[in-house]
Amino acid sequence: MTDRAGAIAERLARVEERIDGACSAAGRSRGDVTLIVVTKTYPASDVRLLAGLGVRHVAENRDQEAADKAAACADLSLNWHFVGQLQTNKVRSVVRYADRVHSVDRPKLVAALSAAVAREGREPLGCLVQVALERDGAAAGAAGRGGAAPEGVPELARAIAEAPGLRLDGVMAVAPLAGKYAGRPREAFGRLADVARSLRAAHPAATMVSAGMSADLEEAIEAGATHVRVGSAVLGVRPDLR
Ligand SMILES: *Cc1c(COP(=O)(O)O)cnc(C)c1O
Repeated sequence: MTDRAGAIAERLARVEERIDGACSAAGRSRGDVTLIVVTKTYPASDVRLLAGLGVRHVAENRDQEAADKAAACADLSLNWHFVGQLQTNKVRSVVRYADRVHSVDRPKLVAALSAAVAREGREPLGCLVQVALERDGAAAGAAGRGGAAPEGVPELARAIAEAPGLRLDGVMAVAPLAGKYAGRPREAFGRLADVARSLRAAHPAATMVSAGMSADLEEAIEAGATHVRVGSAVLGVRPDLR
């Protein structure tokens, strides 16, 4: 094993232990939580090492980088998740490699993804509504970049559910740095769990709750996350912050 492979294996084992511990503490089954390794800024060779270590889900946040890596790893059986802010002019590329988009936050993006899936003639694309918890209490129509206000989730979810070629899978959020949940990941993910519960009442198949990163995966699992998105704890601190 190379040094890099050994380092990743060690870090991955530590993250697996943290997930195991969080599931036990929450009385949840380990099988209810899926680890997605966020590979942004790291090379395709790391993705290959991760696949060799049994990782099945990887995530990226920039189209150009993701498209190149997915092409370089096309021989691996991996699920690709897109988790970054998405411009409508990038969706034609994203639907070529992404299995799921976690960052659906506005009606215009729903329409663009639906059209791109039809044009590509691919299988349905899994979509999650990104919830901007820092905008809790904002008007439903006030959808902006980087997430919809919790009040806007039902409308956006309906748009996804009705859009040809798209499948509504659930919700995604990042613990906010601003607003009333800043520095309170437990409360933030608790609020997300409420949003997810309401969503399931209207759309029973939309069971995914994508929450929790390197710093707060325990709090997310405690609150019911089904998918944690972990980058630096597995691959190391990224040289540039993004
Ligand atoms: C980078 C990123 C992550 C992973 O963050 P870490 O702190 O490195 O674990 C998770 N989710 C999103 C949306 C990201 O952009």
